Amino acid sequence: MQLQVLGYYGGYPYNGVGTSSYLLTSGDYHLLLDCGSGALLALEKVLEPLQLDAVLLTHYHHDHIADLGVLQYYWQLHQGVKKEPILPIYGHLQDPLHFGSLTLPGVTQGFGYQEDTVLTVGPFKITFKRTIHPVPAFATRIEEVSTGKVLVFTADTAYFPELANFAQQADLLMTDTNFLQDKTGKMAHMTTTQSAALAEDSQVKQLLLTHLPQTATAETLLEQAQAVLPNLPIQVAKQGLTIEIA
Ligand SMILES: [Zn+2]
Ligand SMILES: [Zn+2]
Repeated sequence: MQLQVLGYYGGYPYNGVGTSSYLLTSGDYHLLLDCGSGALLALEKVLEPLQLDAVLLTHYHHDHIADLGVLQYYWQLHQGVKKEPILPIYGHLQDPLHFGSLTLPGVTQGFGYQEDTVLTVGPFKITFKRTIHPVPAFATRIEEVSTGKVLVFTADTAYFPELANFAQQADLLMTDTNFLQDKTGKMAHMTTTQSAALAEDSQVKQLLLTHLPQTATAETLLEQAQAVLPNLPIQVAKQGLTIEIA
C-alpha cells in the first residue's frame, strides 16, 4: 500500500500547505485519512475526488475536518463518475453533533466507531486506540489484509507509554510531532524525541513525523528525532511525499 501526504500542519494551513490529510491506496482502493484544511485542493492534484472509496477521521478538531463540508459538496454537485454512489465517512461516536454532520442524505453516509471496534474497510482491517487529547481522538492501526503490512497513525495525542503496544511492529508509524524537544508543560501533542521514543518502544520499521509546527524547519525536526534513533529510517512530512509501505 502507498501513503501520500496531502497536508501535514497542525492547527492551521501555512505557506501553501494544508493541515492533516493523507491518501492511503491499496490496489485501486483509495482511503482519505483525515480531511483537514486544503485537503480537497491537494487531493485534486493526485486523484479525481469522486474516485475515493471512503474517508476515515481520527477526531473532529478543525485541522482534521475543515474540508469535509466542501468534499461533501463536491460529491453532491460535481458531474462525474463516482466510485461509490454514497461516500462512506468513518468517525467516532463520542460527539453526536459532529458525527451527525458526516451524513449528507443521498451523498455521504457516516459510520461510527469506538475504541473496541474492528472495521473492515475495503482491503483494510482497522482498529483504534483512544488518545490523550482535549477532545476524544483515536489512533488508528490500518492493516492491509492481503499483505499484512501495517500503518499506524497516532492521530493527535500527548505521549503515553501504552501507545507503543498499539503501534507494535508497524511497517510505518506516523506520529503527531507538533513540538520540538524543548517543549515543556501540559501537552496535547508529542515532541520530536517523544515520537522517536514511541518508534523505538514499538519497534516500527520506519517513522514519519507529521502534524508539524509552522515554526520549525524539517532539518531540525529530523535531527532531533534521528539523534534518538540513528539507525531508523525517519522522514519528515512534506507535500506530495509518497511512501510505499511494502
Ligand atoms: Zn490536530
Ligand atoms: Zn486535535
